[in-house]
Amino acid sequence: METSAKNIRQQERVFDVEAVRRDFPILQQQVNGHPLVYLDNAATSQKPNAVIDAISDYYRGYNANVHRGIHALAEKATTAIENARQSLANFINSPAPEQVLWTRGTTEAINLVAYSWGRSNLKPGDRVLVPILEHHSSIVPWQMATESTGAEVVPVPVTPSGEIDMVALDALLDERVKMVAVSHISNALGTVNPVADIVVRAHRVGAKVLIDGAQAVAHTPVDVQALNCDFYAFSGHKMFGPTGIGVLWGRRELLEAMPPWQGGGEMIEQVSFAGTSYQGLPYRFEAGTPDIAGAIGLAAAVDYLQHLDRVAVAAHEADVLEYTLAQGAAFDGLTRFGEADHVAGVFSFLLDGIPPSDVGMLLDQQGIAVRTGHHCAQPIMAQYGIPGTVRASFALYNTRAEVDRLFEGLAKARRMLG
Ligand code: PLP
Repeated sequence: METSAKNIRQQERVFDVEAVRRDFPILQQQVNGHPLVYLDNAATSQKPNAVIDAISDYYRGYNANVHRGIHALAEKATTAIENARQSLANFINSPAPEQVLWTRGTTEAINLVAYSWGRSNLKPGDRVLVPILEHHSSIVPWQMATESTGAEVVPVPVTPSGEIDMVALDALLDERVKMVAVSHISNALGTVNPVADIVVRAHRVGAKVLIDGAQAVAHTPVDVQALNCDFYAFSGHKMFGPTGIGVLWGRRELLEAMPPWQGGGEMIEQVSFAGTSYQGLPYRFEAGTPDIAGAIGLAAAVDYLQHLDRVAVAAHEADVLEYTLAQGAAFDGLTRFGEADHVAGVFSFLLDGIPPSDVGMLLDQQGIAVRTGHHCAQPIMAQYGIPGTVRASFALYNTRAEVDRLFEGLAKARRMLG
């Protein structure tokens, strides 16, 4: 009995990448006469049939506006979107579903906090700390919020290997700091930031922490209670869900004290020209018709991820990335950017003397999709003194064979363009 239970557990631990690839119809195509190698997952991931079907089922079977209808379709759609909220809450271990707010994505989630929390909590002399490796979406909303409140954004240094300089962070953390805005995983370098540790340090001086989880949710289980963060933001489309939907998770007492940031339908309790009152959580932050299909699709992506053994998925992803890094280290004329001890999902590099866009175009001709440029992280590119890199970014469906194709493509680029 015991042995067979163990066997079953071991079987579950096996990650069958070919079976997973069959779940993603887009991966089965040829691009420019070659089988597609999709290595642009940090920009957006592909969608499994389960997600595509969930969206299509909604539009084919029960499309209706939510929350205000009494007819059958409206009730079905309302149940589906609220079940989706519960799924997302479970996914990140939120204590309650109403702490999960629908947004258009990470960018909108961060803007919500910067606008609503920022404008009501920041004052002249206050500081918001933002590490230099952050995505523009985690920098610009804070620049806007501090401009309008007289507070200040202070960059946190990053080491040459692409890690947040924790000594410098400690030196900056004092009672002037009201917010630390930090990514869980850097999209430009792949650095996995020590976010739980940063939360502990920030809380010691009374600062709040907003974690930008855009690059994390597809790669690692997230537990907002274990992280003990104040806000956590992420996008559906980077975790196999649809575009146009994302989540802001917030600590209940903070969300309850924040003013609404957009007005309209759904977020009101009662409206009159004498004055308007607002709903409680989560609706006070969800003005207008939400992305119902998006939320349903995102919940399907959560189900999809959760039916896989995430430990086995992480082991597979680590293997593919290590294989990539080893090939990169052995490749003449290749410089890697971001060599943190702990990286996930991203290989960012330059080939000597060849502009990244030329490398990207040559790879595209061979059916290999990568991204080139500054990756919306100009400050860290400026620190390295470069305008941008070539970035290959990975998801659970990528394979060692695809990495071989990438390096064959790079060898060709070096021969033709170098
Ligand atoms: N933060 C990080 C770390 C990202 O990688 C991205 C997107 O690339 C964003 C924020 C913005 O995400 P979205 O465009 O889905 O709002």
